[in-house]
Amino acid sequence: MISLLDSSPKVIKGVGSKYFEILDKNRYSTVYDLLTHFPKYYIDTSLIDNIVEIGVDKVYNLEIKKSGLYRNYKRRLSIINISGFVGETTVDIAIFNKPYLMEQIKSSKTIKIYGKILMYGIQHRMENPKILNDKGGIIPVYDNVGTISGGTIGNIIKNIFDIREEHDDILPKHLVKKYNFMPFWESLKRIHVPEHQNNDIKTLKERFIYSEFLYFQIESIYIRKKSGKSKRSRNYKNITDSGKNISSRINFQLTEDQKKAIRDIQSDLTSNFTMQRLLLGDVGSGKTIISFLFLLIAVCNNYQGAFLAPTEVLTDQHFENASHFFKDIKIAILTGSTSRSEKRKITEELKSGKIQIIFGTHSIINDGIKFKNLSAIVIDEQHRFGVAQRASLFYKGENADLLVTTATPIPRTLLLSLYKDLDVSEIKSMPKDRIPIRTLILKQEVREKFYAEILNRVKNGEKAFIVLPLILQSSRFKELRSLEGEKPFFKNMFGDTPFGIISGKTPTEEKQRTFEKFKDGKINILISTTIIEVGIDIRDATIIIIEDADKYGLSQLHQLRGRVGRGNKKSFCYLFPSLRITRTGQERLKIIKEISDGFEIAEKDLGMRGGGDILGTEQSGYLDFHISDIKEYPDLYRKASKDALHMIKDPIIQNIHIANKLAQIDKRIKKISFS
Ligand code: ADP
Ligand code: MG
Repeated sequence: MISLLDSSPKVIKGVGSKYFEILDKNRYSTVYDLLTHFPKYYIDTSLIDNIVEIGVDKVYNLEIKKSGLYRNYKRRLSIINISGFVGETTVDIAIFNKPYLMEQIKSSKTIKIYGKILMYGIQHRMENPKILNDKGGIIPVYDNVGTISGGTIGNIIKNIFDIREEHDDILPKHLVKKYNFMPFWESLKRIHVPEHQNNDIKTLKERFIYSEFLYFQIESIYIRKKSGKSKRSRNYKNITDSGKNISSRINFQLTEDQKKAIRDIQSDLTSNFTMQRLLLGDVGSGKTIISFLFLLIAVCNNYQGAFLAPTEVLTDQHFENASHFFKDIKIAILTGSTSRSEKRKITEELKSGKIQIIFGTHSIINDGIKFKNLSAIVIDEQHRFGVAQRASLFYKGENADLLVTTATPIPRTLLLSLYKDLDVSEIKSMPKDRIPIRTLILKQEVREKFYAEILNRVKNGEKAFIVLPLILQSSRFKELRSLEGEKPFFKNMFGDTPFGIISGKTPTEEKQRTFEKFKDGKINILISTTIIEVGIDIRDATIIIIEDADKYGLSQLHQLRGRVGRGNKKSFCYLFPSLRITRTGQERLKIIKEISDGFEIAEKDLGMRGGGDILGTEQSGYLDFHISDIKEYPDLYRKASKDALHMIKDPIIQNIHIANKLAQIDKRIKKISFS
């Protein structure tokens, strides 16, 4: 019998097929997944205040003077306007698109609200407060899941407590004892239905973070054991010729490390087992060309290849480079924006073998694509992929050879622990012609003068990235710069010199067009958020300016800086500190200025807890963790890693949930390999 925790959310009261679909789409596929959707913060409704404090989230008692509902059906807009008093202060409230609240508001003299009062001119105003009911106590506040509101999610989670199985736990008993964790349901209750504000939520969460690490490790160790070394089924007769073939396709000399990596690959491909290799190298060290060579070998032996990148922009870029490199070879690209008919055609041609190499985002592995004889798979910038995806790919190719490339998001040892199953080639040295990037920390006072100077340099043919932390201005991070907020400044600064603006919200096509223009030199200034962080390769870009630089993590800054200095021209990275820079912020900037080696920076990053990375929204975390971050809990991760190994060796100490998990993996492996 399947236990509650592993069951589908459908068993919970309040989850019908509509909610189920949304939950499933957002990777909440079990009751446990929902239970680990933790509140993002708590409101203590007993702390009512009648004194207005500008800009601070608080619970207020609002005495209602007047209220009204405005509706615009055409624009699908509704606003409830309330005018009232908090203590002696007149406050205007606006609530958008929740017309159903009107009834409650109309029938009350006072309401309890939670939110931030801001000044608009001389007027006190609050937008979209939470209306609190009279029950009191501590209210957990949740993030939405897809289109399901946080409030509804909270109610659904509460319903789980009615059907819980008292003794169930995701962790085996011996581990709970070993780490002295609080009992499973007790911990959850304190997190989701707290009676006091003073619970140490961080400590309570540790057992769940540990569990996620443990299950991740169990899965990867198990898959690794199953798929470990699989016997080679595709033989490459023509290896050296295709190796020689490469020099006619590039206009530079390979570095020694690159040559060594190629030799590693060649020897893998002639061994009795399939290749499972990790290509490790700092940003800009030249990993792409190695993966292209690998694909070339496959094609020269009449097999097909697949190149998978984490984003569409990156896929486009690789595809464009590939069009030059593989000029005599039939390649195609498949991404989220490929049209339906085009996709159908590509699917056909992959099946028939007409297409020799496919470039795509990882989503292409999902939808029933069959190859004639896929033998070579490249996964670029692997830290954005999960192990599960990697495994399914692996089997789709029926023992295909696999090359995974990655830069340095986390320290070397930690990284290698994630990929214990892979052999490693490392590119340590940069191409010869590289000139080290000069990094400078600037002062706010010189900002205008500095940008005037940049404009001059751009007019003389240089190319510049400008990176801002936010897309829109944020009331939470008021002091930070945003694309929206700075646009007038840059317009004013750069006059009739055109520039491009892109962010994660820019429609794909527009993004592609803007990149294209930047690459071709039609615009020489590209203003963006961190979406340029991974892999973007504009060889002649020589300037990157990072605003509010202390708000980023070290590895992220290093990745960003890696967007320049990729050609043979002297490049510069300029860092503007934010207006409210902290001590650790200053330290981070100093480290970036002084250290250029990615691994060394990643080590430092790990040492500096709680720094940077405010901007978790646009970048996804490392790997596919729901709640955990290796960088934040490296010790828990290491412990889980050891425990997982024991557990796989000794099935007796597994519990029912782990056994279920392994059974599922078995099923998945079978399904994929025999389809
Ligand atoms: P990454 O390792 O970050 O993926 P890329 O593979 O994108 O780096 O390479 C960065 C740039 O360096 C590319 O423009 C590539 O053509 C160039 N490159 C790669 N190898 C060499 C080399 N041996 N000499 C000169 N340039 C090289
Ligand atoms: Mg790359």
